[in-house]
Amino acid sequence: MVKKKKGEDQDMGKVAIYPGSFDPITYGHIDVVERALEIFDKVIIAIAEDVEKRPLFSVEERLQMVKTIFKETPNIIADSFKGLLVDYVAKTNAKVILRGLRATSDFEYEFHMASMNRSLNTYLDTLFMMTSKDYFFVSSRTIKEVARLGGGVEGLVPDLVARRLKEKFKLPVTKKKQMGWDD
Ligand code: ADP
Repeated sequence: MVKKKKGEDQDMGKVAIYPGSFDPITYGHIDVVERALEIFDKVIIAIAEDVEKRPLFSVEERLQMVKTIFKETPNIIADSFKGLLVDYVAKTNAKVILRGLRATSDFEYEFHMASMNRSLNTYLDTLFMMTSKDYFFVSSRTIKEVARLGGGVEGLVPDLVARRLKEKFKLPVTKKKQMGWDD
């Protein structure tokens, strides 16, 4: 008999948790999630409520954007969590944490986090997906900075996110209909 490991539920298929701030979600994140679906049956985008820096978007706003973007993709689920990631993962049937790697600068932080999470829960593995060449320079932080200064972020974030950024920074939202910004 094959012994079922902790957190493994064969009926649900392979599940990965993709945690992060997603403040806001970008095409860099979306690219990672979509590629992960080649490996996993389901990816849960887990939006962290407890983040060190004050987020631009509330957790409800971040969740609403992710839910809207993936409303036609039932195997990408949006959720939020408070507190330790390992405690949240333990409540799901996932065994894998998914993270994206952009450049060597991401590595040290990610290496420490993955090692810490593994020491907190030895059943958990972290899987890293390398960024695509089109998005290696895309981060939520730089997107917010460019948007705040009035620069165009279309093509780097979904139109819905571009519109929300303009609303946040009180920039004119033009051509709403033509741009397909209605959600
Ligand atoms: P955090 O606030 O935990 O750094 P983020 O919301 O910024 O999380 O990102 C979540 C994950 O997605 C992180 O592993 C981050 O490295 C990854 N990520 C963010 N942007 C990109 C990108 N352009 N390409 C690949 N991975 C990315």
